[in-house]
Amino acid sequence: MRLPRFDFREPSVVEEALSLLEEFKGSVIPLAGGTDLIPIMKYGLETPSTVVGLKRVSALRGISLNSGNVHIGAMTLLVDMLSSRTLLDNFPGLIQAVKAVAAPPLWNVATIGGNICQNSRCLYYNQSKTWRLERPACFKAKGDVCHAVPAGRKCFSVYSSDLAPALTALGATITIRRKGQSRTIPLQDLFSGNGLSPFTMEKSELLTGVEIPLPQKRSNSSYIKKRMRSAVDYPLISASASIVCNEDNRIKQIRLVLGAVGSKPVIVGSADQIFAGKTIDEIDFDALGDNVRKETRMVDNLMLPGSYRRQMLPVIARDAVRAAFPSIVE
Ligand SMILES: Cc1cc2nc3c(=O)[nH]c(=O)nc-3n(C[C@H](O)[C@H](O)[C@H](O)COP(=O)(O)OP(=O)(O)OC[C@H]3O[C@@H](n4cnc5c(N)ncnc54)[C@H](O)[C@@H]3O)c2cc1C
Ligand code: SF4
Repeated sequence: MRLPRFDFREPSVVEEALSLLEEFKGSVIPLAGGTDLIPIMKYGLETPSTVVGLKRVSALRGISLNSGNVHIGAMTLLVDMLSSRTLLDNFPGLIQAVKAVAAPPLWNVATIGGNICQNSRCLYYNQSKTWRLERPACFKAKGDVCHAVPAGRKCFSVYSSDLAPALTALGATITIRRKGQSRTIPLQDLFSGNGLSPFTMEKSELLTGVEIPLPQKRSNSSYIKKRMRSAVDYPLISASASIVCNEDNRIKQIRLVLGAVGSKPVIVGSADQIFAGKTIDEIDFDALGDNVRKETRMVDNLMLPGSYRRQMLPVIARDAVRAAFPSIVE
């Protein structure tokens, strides 16, 4: 499979990248490590006339501590996250999520920004042109049918980032820039929930960095993922929990976030009611199971059926909560 023709620009400062994205608005896309974008372009699912490579923009790379927050530049490589003492010491859930992305060779080129900004996926969409020509174009391919849910009137493609649920559970915020403008929003606000266009960010905008608040005392986090092949695969479902306990080992604060369950990560809204004030032995995991099923809708558009993924979700959610329970009481 060949890449379509495009004009390649490689700026070395953020402002230049933003100017290029503005100048070629409408048919431009940023390129980070390319592990997601290049296959998508080879499939003919993205056909920009200009690609803005970000590799030379050194200001977008690096991990630093900044008044109670950890800042991770959008172009930071996954391999560099895995060797960061700050991340290893403070965010076990995030480290587990990074290790769950694809396979080690990809960590050397894949970035946190590219991971967050990857498009949603579907078994009927992420295929070669020849494969797709066998059936009418679906909604996401600008057609008027959904092959996953033939009676459906919308796209159910699945947002499959491993890092986004883990970062959302940790309360991360992101900075998005466009020429002359900058805004910082909670990561969960990046997602539209619309499978056709899963982000609230435009293609002329750039994710420049992620900020994670340093964890409180007696806190812990986890990330659990179900996939077909443990060596390399996207999540079929995942769950990330972040828990803060009181001195008596009762839950003071919890965020439970589900991944690969729809077109955006889902924050389990009922987690506080189920968990607040409880010790690990007092948690009603059956109630948790009922709630996580209610808050998601999974269809048959990944490698395993939606019904199987729905059955496994409570198990993954329970395991994530158990794994995030702080084990050391000070
Ligand atoms: C075999 C294989 C297995 C994979 N398995 C997994 C997996 O298990 N879990 C998982 O999460 N991912 C997986 N991926 C997808 C991909 O490798 C990762 O998500 C990776 O982190 C993407 O980062 P990248 O730097 O390569 O992004 P790129 O491919 O460069 O970009 C991805 C998307 O993000 C946009 N983008 C990149 N940077 C920015 C920015 N700063 N601002 C705005 N938009 C931006 C690009 O335009 C593009 O649309 C897999 C890919 C392959 C090929
Ligand atoms: S869920 Fe339906 S519309 Fe969306 S990509 Fe898959 S087949 Fe296409």
